[in-house]
Amino acid sequence: MRERARFAPSPTGPLHIGGVRTALFNYLIAKKNGGDFILRIEDTDSKRTVKGAEEHIQDSLRWLGLKFDEGPIKQSERKYLYKKCIDELIKKGLAYYAFDTSVELEKMRANANGQFKYNYETRKNMINSFTVSDEEVKSRVKSGGYVVRMVVPEERKVTVNDEIRGSLSFKSNELEDKIIMKSDGMPTYHFANVVDDHDMKITSVVRGEEWLSSLPSHITLYDHFGWNPPKFFHLPLILKSTGQGKLSKRDADEQGHPVFAVQWEESKGFKEFGYTPEGIINYLALLGWKGKDETEKYTLDELIECFESKYINKSGARFDVKKALWINHLHLKDFSSKKILSLSNQAKSLLEKKYEVKVCEEIVDLIKQRLNTVLDVEKEVFVFINQPKSYDSDAIEKITRNTIYDILNFCKLNTELISDPLSLKESLMSFASESQISFGNIMKTLRLCIVGSLSGPDLFKIIEIIGHDETLQRIESLINKI
Ligand code: GLU
Repeated sequence: MRERARFAPSPTGPLHIGGVRTALFNYLIAKKNGGDFILRIEDTDSKRTVKGAEEHIQDSLRWLGLKFDEGPIKQSERKYLYKKCIDELIKKGLAYYAFDTSVELEKMRANANGQFKYNYETRKNMINSFTVSDEEVKSRVKSGGYVVRMVVPEERKVTVNDEIRGSLSFKSNELEDKIIMKSDGMPTYHFANVVDDHDMKITSVVRGEEWLSSLPSHITLYDHFGWNPPKFFHLPLILKSTGQGKLSKRDADEQGHPVFAVQWEESKGFKEFGYTPEGIINYLALLGWKGKDETEKYTLDELIECFESKYINKSGARFDVKKALWINHLHLKDFSSKKILSLSNQAKSLLEKKYEVKVCEEIVDLIKQRLNTVLDVEKEVFVFINQPKSYDSDAIEKITRNTIYDILNFCKLNTELISDPLSLKESLMSFASESQISFGNIMKTLRLCIVGSLSGPDLFKIIEIIGHDETLQRIESLINKI
């Protein structure tokens, strides 16, 4: 059978990183088996639909490169199908009309101290197809204002299988006769979800573990229709960095990282924070899944190849922003310079104003290893554009004015060496021993002049690229500062 997996978000808000991971795992399961990935928008609850949420979901998937083969299929446009299936269950006696008003239901709940369940027992005392005459059912249905509930049989053992957690059993008496059609004629999530998974020939359902408790009701519906259920994978939660509790937007704000793939209203997403889709996909794959070996870096194609659902974890995965940055770094450092420049327009236009395209790419090659995010590109290329804005004050303490003068004189006298990093290094070494200054000291001083701090890319390469005049100017600038 052709593998078909679907991502089925409700457009009740922006797409959170947990939802992105669900989409990714669905995608991987589908593609691993050469199958289809489908986007279904579960929008049957119009009251909870948030404007712009569906676009946010699609923008996020687009940025991440998770292309769907079918969709978006909107449930709100498939009412006819749900109605047909509801009628079928009513006809079989496996669903029924319920006419209780919200006031009556409230009263029952209050009497039962909040323990009230509409089920095989209590339905006998309520107003529904079982307790009123056929005539009355007809006339009440005509005047509207009813819901349809599913029949959950008494004293049955419902066994459900989750591919991650194994087989679980529930007593049907603990379940409720869930509403499957609301008074506005729309199906509820549970009903539309089951009908659609069957209708769309879905073979694997991957979703968050919060849906595990609904699975017995879903399986009951599959039984009612006589349909074979798909395979279910309930993914563990993404936990906050402390490991206690589900990661929320507030926790993420506190830790200084986003929770959306792309910007939502005022809140920046991973994209705007300078993460790459490759980095985020890779990091999210490792949140709850681990390959056979210690490999950490995977492209999407490599994930498709290596992904095995049996290695999905049962327990929650802690969101670790340092690891996310590290994984992002692993991807950035392997990108071509051209690609990196295409991701950072700012850096590209700054560099291209000053250098030829070939040199711009050479510069990016020099800084690649130092990038954690795309935003770092602009920061890192600065040294090739301008004099340092400031100098590391601790480092200034360690150098002497005399040494800077010596270096300045050396550079003035050795103009031709500036464009030859190897000879410059050698000559500086002999200059160091002649003038009895340690080579380390000379390097530190020169680096401070050129970069403003003691770290940064290969110093001789920087000097080669910025050229003789700029090098002298930077040395003189530091002399003027101390
Ligand atoms: N609409 C549900 C959600 O947003 C989908 C659950 C499922 O995938 O079955 O989480």
